[in-house]
Amino acid sequence: MSEPTHAATPETLSPQAQRELIEELLKKVGMNVTDIEEDFVNYLYNMLGRNLASEPDYHYKALAYAVRDRVMKLWKQTWAGYHQEKSKKAYYLSMEFLIGRSLSNNMLNLGIEDKVDLAIYKLGLALEHIEDAEADAGLGNGGLGRLAACFMDSCATLRLPVMGYGLRYEYGMFKQLIQNGHQIEAPDHWLGYDSYPWEFQRREYTRVIRFGGVSRPYRDHQTGRLTVRWEDTEEVLAVPYDVPIPGYKNNTVNTLRLWSAQATEIFNFSEFNRGSYFEAVSSKAEAENITMVLYPNDASENGKELRLKQQYFLVSASLQDVVAQWIEQHGHNVDDFDTHNVFQLNDTHPSLAVVELMRILIDDLGLEWDKAWKITSNCMAYTNHTLLPEALERWQVSLFQKLLPRLLDIIYEINTRFLKQVAMKWPGDNDRLRQMSVIDEHQNVRMAYLAIVGSFSVNGVAALHSQLLKDGLFNDFYQLWPWKFNNKTNGVTQRRWIASSNPGLRKLLADTIGEGWITHLDELTAIEQQIDNHSFRQAWIEVKRNNKKRLAQLVQQDTGVVFNPDSMFDVQVKRIHEYKRQLLNVLHVIHLYTRIKRGDTANWTNRCVLIGGKAAPGYFMAKTIIKLVNNVADIINNDPEVGDKLKLAFIPNYRVSVMEIIAPGTDLSEQISTAGKEASGTGNMKFMMNGAVTIGTLDGANVEILEAAGEDNFFLFGLKTDEVAELRHQYHPQSYIDSDHDLQSVFNLLESGHFNHFEPGLFDDLINGMKSPGDPWVTLADFRSFVDAQQQAATAFRNVERWTSMSIINSARSGVFSTDRTISQYNEEIWKLTPVGDGD
Ligand SMILES: *Cc1c(COP(=O)(O)O)cnc(C)c1O
Repeated sequence: MSEPTHAATPETLSPQAQRELIEELLKKVGMNVTDIEEDFVNYLYNMLGRNLASEPDYHYKALAYAVRDRVMKLWKQTWAGYHQEKSKKAYYLSMEFLIGRSLSNNMLNLGIEDKVDLAIYKLGLALEHIEDAEADAGLGNGGLGRLAACFMDSCATLRLPVMGYGLRYEYGMFKQLIQNGHQIEAPDHWLGYDSYPWEFQRREYTRVIRFGGVSRPYRDHQTGRLTVRWEDTEEVLAVPYDVPIPGYKNNTVNTLRLWSAQATEIFNFSEFNRGSYFEAVSSKAEAENITMVLYPNDASENGKELRLKQQYFLVSASLQDVVAQWIEQHGHNVDDFDTHNVFQLNDTHPSLAVVELMRILIDDLGLEWDKAWKITSNCMAYTNHTLLPEALERWQVSLFQKLLPRLLDIIYEINTRFLKQVAMKWPGDNDRLRQMSVIDEHQNVRMAYLAIVGSFSVNGVAALHSQLLKDGLFNDFYQLWPWKFNNKTNGVTQRRWIASSNPGLRKLLADTIGEGWITHLDELTAIEQQIDNHSFRQAWIEVKRNNKKRLAQLVQQDTGVVFNPDSMFDVQVKRIHEYKRQLLNVLHVIHLYTRIKRGDTANWTNRCVLIGGKAAPGYFMAKTIIKLVNNVADIINNDPEVGDKLKLAFIPNYRVSVMEIIAPGTDLSEQISTAGKEASGTGNMKFMMNGAVTIGTLDGANVEILEAAGEDNFFLFGLKTDEVAELRHQYHPQSYIDSDHDLQSVFNLLESGHFNHFEPGLFDDLINGMKSPGDPWVTLADFRSFVDAQQQAATAFRNVERWTSMSIINSARSGVFSTDRTISQYNEEIWKLTPVGDGD
């Protein structure tokens, strides 16, 4: 380094002047149309080296950077505010964040959509096309992951100091292609060739995660205290990438921190030095494998070693991060840690957080067990998402021994102490001990039990679901700790699911009742006062019609099937799973087809049925259901006798950005799971908000949707939870076929091979499943009441006045299904955080 050689060396500014200069320079990131235009052009031409004639992908990138610049200052302010106030913070730990697209949502929340729209329009471009170029961030399977994304939006909008922690999968949810009616999975490299514009690598917060090795007891020579060291481990780096989460026009930007696995340099060096170049590179690849791909199983576990590694990786990185921030602020005294921090576990996937926090407190910070346990169990809260036994996570003790030996020690100790408590409560009751043990008879760790034992709050995600947890699955634990159990009915954010995805409805609402509903969805009830207002009703019909046209266009583009917007749009989109009963839907479609074929079409309601969703790649039955839908669609859509009376399409690659077009264009929302199996559902809420009427069973949040909408505005059918449970003892599907001509006709057609002429036996497993007394989903038991409810829906739809009222009422009464309500309840009853800042 040499001194500057200028004759007159310029003086360095004082720190104060430096701050003022920076402040002044940052003001250039203005909010006017010309400011945005300038930055967009600058990014497009100078950074990306492209021009106005380039592909929309470049326009998207340039605009994303320009919008992103408008987030940065608020983001830093929010972060600083949270740290200054030393306020209590919550951390949402989730293996999935199904974010979808961010551009339009961020513009909406920053309140700059109109300006951006104008800036882009002046340059001869269409904002819609630019938005369409954004790939979905598909870091989740379905409802659970989308819930986490909606929660982040509401936390920011409510100015709550909540940070999301997740994984930055290189490959998100697979892309679903349909070839010859079959699902084909293609990799989803959502990050694109360069980088994702909404993320910021934060190398300085890198954490070291350990796997393998052994745990060795060891006596500290000075204190004489017996401690344990976890040694000879392999280490992997967790590098954070931060994604900004802006609240709605409130100057708050929260953080979603996603961890990416990287090999440690040290660990590679030693292998290189030993001359094993190949091994060094392979072990680097192996380390980085941890965050390579999202497991595409929804509501079923797969027991793969790599999945457990992912779970621990998330939990360890996040807890180390929080504890490091604590130490930075408060020093090594963790006495008040549990009054300042709370962790919400999104299902059992991150439930190792209980064990990892114990490890950190005991091994790293030297706490005694009792104190560590008091802290840990006071700051963990667990959300259960399913009652399906196949979805309950269990991990083999032997796998823990191999991957996480130190954690296994701690799990054993937790269990030993817990079982003593059980024995105190129920002396001599060995069945209880066996039933409640965190380690089961087959040497598996029951992750749900671990989560319950280690948490102060256990919640289900809809009223019915939370009740069933107390009565059934977790009844023993409920008897022991009734105060832990509570309900938090899911929701969805109206910012994305109305304001951003349904601009027509947004405008009508704004013109009628203003925009208060964007942050206070209850205000939607005010539109019920317009229910007799002719021009409002006409406008309502017009909005729905335009949305149906938009949806029809998408369907035609993706499937070739032509939907007539005059028909009823009858939609079931969600993961393909037997319990969700897409099969029941198909049986009804086949039933309508047989009616058309026999000329039973008096007072017919034309109907377009849309089904969509991904099947887990290893889930044979679900994949066969997709094939069946496509084969039935082929027959129906190509039968000239059917015409507009009935259409069926399977929309490929169902995802968030597709749902944004589907929900606004739907008339009838299919929520037809076997009662007692769907924990909540959130698709049902998106549809309701957008004025669809539900046909559904008394399951999950349908119960609450029915209660809100009123029974005149909901098509209820099917057995109730207790009736299903009762029936399962003596279920005779054949008797339903024998006693119902319609069902008989459907099965005759199915079994004749009408839908699989050149593929004999293709659907035998599906058919036999439904006809088996062991069918857990009792599909045939609900056929008759489903068909009757469908007939009621069809009749109601033909009465435009009636249907319009039902549609308006559904929307008007959907306020309770905002995640703003859900998150307020999490906060008031579990987290107890104080909103930060004043929002101006
Ligand atoms: C809302 C949503 C889901 C959840 O749908 P359910 O009907 O509640 O199962 C799944 N996937 C996507 C893409 C969604 O947007």
